[in-house]
Amino acid sequence: MLVERMRAHTSTIFAEMSALALRTGAINLGQGFPDTDGPPSLLSDAAANIHGGLNQYPPGVGVPELRSAVAEHQRRFYGLDVDPDTVLITTGATEAIAAAVLALCGPGDEVVTFQPYYDSYAATIALAGAELRAVALRPPSFGFDPDELRAAFSSRTRLVLVNTPHNPTGTVFDREQLTLIGELAAEHDAVVVTDEVYEHMVYDGRAHVPMATLPGLADRTLTISSVGKTFSVTGWKVGWVNGPAELVHAVRAVKQFLTYVSGAPFQPAIAAALALPDSFYTGLATDLQRKRDLLSDGLREAGFTVFDTAGTYFVVTDVTALGFTDGAEFCWTLPERIGVAAVPVSVFCADPDLGRSLVRFAFCKRDEVLEEAVSRLAALRTEVRA
Ligand code: PMP
Ligand code: GLN
Repeated sequence: MLVERMRAHTSTIFAEMSALALRTGAINLGQGFPDTDGPPSLLSDAAANIHGGLNQYPPGVGVPELRSAVAEHQRRFYGLDVDPDTVLITTGATEAIAAAVLALCGPGDEVVTFQPYYDSYAATIALAGAELRAVALRPPSFGFDPDELRAAFSSRTRLVLVNTPHNPTGTVFDREQLTLIGELAAEHDAVVVTDEVYEHMVYDGRAHVPMATLPGLADRTLTISSVGKTFSVTGWKVGWVNGPAELVHAVRAVKQFLTYVSGAPFQPAIAAALALPDSFYTGLATDLQRKRDLLSDGLREAGFTVFDTAGTYFVVTDVTALGFTDGAEFCWTLPERIGVAAVPVSVFCADPDLGRSLVRFAFCKRDEVLEEAVSRLAALRTEVRA
């Protein structure tokens, strides 16, 4: 029944692993979602908006106060001068990515991105009938080979899809890497679409560099983010995209026929939350950095090879030292054996061999949950010895 171009994308690993975790009662470190709520003021503002009658279609481009708050956020954190009229509110970052790809790419066009990638990228590119050109990010640093990146571009490159901080590897691209990506995009007259949903989750004193801040890039860059990660409300699905008016208009043309609008009561509440003091944002990163260390140390202790996470709330491991060659097989049996769920990185790769022995864990959970997960995972060491 399903159209040919979507046949490789029938299910998502997140749904499969969350269902398995539920069935087995395992601690779910697979799908990335926090197990605590976001700022109390955000929750009470949204509830008040629902009770106060903000329950009908908001404007197609988003409510004015949220568009202004996003523009102000870009100025406050990155010194970007954003016109609120060029901010489009979307149904999560997922819709912004889909609308951008569908608006700008069609059959015959190529999209350059990095693998492993967030799973919606490949599905969305397939939906547009365009071609994916994925450049490898390899452990231990998960950086890319500049020559490989150069070779991925062609006269058919229409779009470059960049994710920094990067899911699943936890890489935060530095200025030099981003500059090369930008130069190649400019050389091939390609649009840059940058997914920055983990922008406030960077560790060890690093800084997130938005692509739009690099010289000459703002004119060809669509910047995407969302409320789900920053405010721990992944189920709200409110995101945004901004960039040059002409590109945003193109995205809006598609967006209006995907969902039209969404999140009426949430939008004004999020506008207020974006103005929370710096202490909220730094507190989020400090807290997650501690959780990263707690889980990474525990995984190392249990016998995994653990790669450094510079940003996001994920840590990638290699399971070879535990006697496994296939991360997917490892993940399918882990909940039953040990009582913890994780996701295999191979499903995020166009070339599954690239992530064959890699497994991703999420650390956006309460300390006691991570501690319990670590103590369960410690049993793996005994299994290997036995
Ligand atoms: N991009 C990346 C890299 C993600 O990890 C996620 C996670 N959920 C999304 C986009 C989707 O964000 P949203 O829930 O706002 O659609
Ligand atoms: N972004 C989250 C992750 O990567 C959840 C994605 C999803 O459930 N689609 O785990």
